[in-house]
This record gives sequence, C-alpha cells and structure tokens, in this order.
Amino acid sequence: MKDKKTTVYEDRQEKQRKYMEKHAVLCPHCGAEVLDHMTECPYCKQPLKPKGYTPLTDKQIKKIKLITFSVGMVIAIVVLVCWSLFWK
Ligand SMILES: [Zn+2]
Repeated sequence: MKDKKTTVYEDRQEKQRKYMEKHAVLCPHCGAEVLDHMTECPYCKQPLKPKGYTPLTDKQIKKIKLITFSVGMVIAIVVLVCWSLFWK
C-alpha cells in the first residue's frame, strides 16, 4: 500500500517534470527557466511573450468584425425568412 502510494506520487512528479521540460523556455530578460504560457517572468517581473500569442493587427480586427457582422446578418435574414414563412 505504502509502495503504491509512492509510485503514484512519483508518476505525478514525473508527469510534472515532463510538462515542465516541454513548456520551459528561457526568460529573454534574466535567462531563468519559465513556462511558455506565462505573460510575466516570476523572477524579474519583465513581460514575456507567451508561445502562440500574437497581438491582433488592425486588419485582423477589421476582418473579425466583418465576419461577425456577416454571420449576424445571415442569422437575422434566416430568422426573418423563417418568421415571414411561418406567419403567411
Ligand atoms: Zn526573467
């Protein structure tokens, strides 16, 4: 029983270690090991760029707004058409 518990604990530690290895990056400001999803270095408090994070450009924001607007319009038209068909 005691041995089993230790194994489970070690498994968890091993998983955590693997996770840390997979996601560990070096802080560009102080060189400390940090995780790639962090937005701020816990050691030097400098801002970090999380992996896969790219700030949206104005062009992308306009595109997203246009898509959202188009989808909204399509839904509105569909609802209107259904509504008018239903009430005829
Ligand atoms: Zn740092």
